[in-house]
Amino acid sequence: MSTHFLCSGWSYGARSGILTPMEIDEGVHAIESLGIGRAYIYQEQDRLTLIDTGLANSADKIFAVIEKIGRKPEDLKQIFITHHHRDHTGSLANVIDRSNAQVFAHKIEAPVIRGDQPSPKPDANTLRSVLRPFIGSGAEIATPARVDRELEDGDELDIGGGAKVLHVPGHTMGSVALFIPQRKMLFAGDAAVSAIGLGPPAGPFGLFNEDSEQAIESFQKLAELDFDRAFFGHGKPLDGEACTLFRRAADQLS
Ligand SMILES: [Zn+2]
Ligand SMILES: [Zn+2]
Repeated sequence: MSTHFLCSGWSYGARSGILTPMEIDEGVHAIESLGIGRAYIYQEQDRLTLIDTGLANSADKIFAVIEKIGRKPEDLKQIFITHHHRDHTGSLANVIDRSNAQVFAHKIEAPVIRGDQPSPKPDANTLRSVLRPFIGSGAEIATPARVDRELEDGDELDIGGGAKVLHVPGHTMGSVALFIPQRKMLFAGDAAVSAIGLGPPAGPFGLFNEDSEQAIESFQKLAELDFDRAFFGHGKPLDGEACTLFRRAADQLS
């Protein structure tokens, strides 16, 4: 059944301010020069929240962006980790050392991030062999780092007036996305990806999935939300009509 009617239309009037050259959306900064993947800084008056940390050696780039937007390392109060893959956790230990931020990750990922459990392997359906030479050991664990709060589905975080944690297993079993209803904004991590080449504008990630079937189910769950903008671990953000594009892709998968 199509659920397109639930998806609200995009309006530029929804934005209250003018973006600075550093912003990809009001208060949202992308850190793109991480080799593989993207991290994001969500800027608020009293705090910065970092969403993922990139590969190892990305900390300098992250703190350079923080400096460019006129903030200090100690303004970084929260780090939201979407999943344990090292292109998302590679610089976590370094960023913690330089900021003392609280780290949030799903309870399934926390022992892997801490180094207490080995990194689970992707399933046989995944296309890891295609891109593995470029991503290197992208599916392996990074330097162990602390996790302060173990998340569960439905938890609420103090980001953007109340952000909802969505457990979206499949890519990894403890993958989480962050949904900010007031901003109609979704940070999907690797539970979804935006267009690569001539592919559809949005879809489930095809690489390194621990359970590819669950990854599709989780993508379909995300497609039921009402959001205008989506930010991904890989691929360009979708700006406007994001959930319409998700639903189109979800319909084709079912
Ligand atoms: Zn991943
Ligand atoms: Zn990734």
